[in-house]
Amino acid sequence: MAQAVTVLGTGLMGAGMARNLAGAGLDVTVWNRSVEKARPLAEAGATVAEDLSRAVSGADVVITMLFDVDAVAQVMECALPATDSEAIWVQTSTVGLGGTARLADLAEQHSVGFVDAPVLGTKQPAEQGSLIVLAGGSAQLRDTVTPVFEAIGSRTVWVGEQPGDGHRLKLAANSWVLSVVGATAQAVGLADNVGLDPQLFLDAISGGPLDCAYAQIKGKAMIAEEFPPAFTLGGAVKDTALIAEAMRTGGTDEQLMQALHRQFQAAADAGHGAEDMAAVIHALQH
Ligand code: NAP
Repeated sequence: MAQAVTVLGTGLMGAGMARNLAGAGLDVTVWNRSVEKARPLAEAGATVAEDLSRAVSGADVVITMLFDVDAVAQVMECALPATDSEAIWVQTSTVGLGGTARLADLAEQHSVGFVDAPVLGTKQPAEQGSLIVLAGGSAQLRDTVTPVFEAIGSRTVWVGEQPGDGHRLKLAANSWVLSVVGATAQAVGLADNVGLDPQLFLDAISGGPLDCAYAQIKGKAMIAEEFPPAFTLGGAVKDTALIAEAMRTGGTDEQLMQALHRQFQAAADAGHGAEDMAAVIHALQH
């Protein structure tokens, strides 16, 4: 019998993940707070549940892909009483280290297995099944979650056996991703404001050791001023705060991350929170 997998949250990331799980032959149920976002997944073979308890009952694996720790905790506090005690909760939302500890405690209170599994990759890799899964959890849980990780990703890095191990690597990787976006905005904004065509900056680094596919993608969006979301600016505000907190706790100077956080926050305050994080360029142009 196919493994029963429930995906809670069918936003930019969860929808693509659910599609790939269904495509891999797993028995997929989806639930989303705004059910209309989940409905198109019926065409991919998923069962669309309107009731949260029904969505999780009978699932072998429950995946959460929701905005932040409060959203995940709120949803799982309602879902866990209906979740089978043999089920495994795969937590893929980016919630930080304190957030992961809080959710792992919640899982333990309900005697449900918990795997900390944040992912690298945005909307397109989620749709293509080519995410990189950064996993932390007991070795005993690995066999059950492996078919799930193989369906959503091209690679899994098992970082360690503790919840939080996946997130430690995720925050380090996101510190780099968000810094690249901020640095690209700075170079594009500077080139523009000193009277250059900012495309000259992208052309100058193109193909050399300073180049980076991400800088090209986000730089082009900034120049075209087109920001359809792959990763929202609101998400970048959340993640820069989570990274700065982990830096502070771990004894790494967080000034650069705080500056980046303020830039993302300023662009969000100017009304760009639902756009792609490349819209941070708005905070650099006066
Ligand atoms: P998204 O498109 O904004 O989707 C957010 C999801 O969270 C939606 O399903 C939304 O439901 C739900 N939600 C928010 N608040 C809620 C609440 N209080 N109760 C119930 N549901 C709630 O975000 P996303 O890009 O898919 O990101 C999801 C998670 O993955 C985030 O933690 C993000 O940091 C992480 N992530 C994102 C990317 C990326 O590139 N996009 C990459 C890696 C990791 P509604 O539809 O009803 O609003």
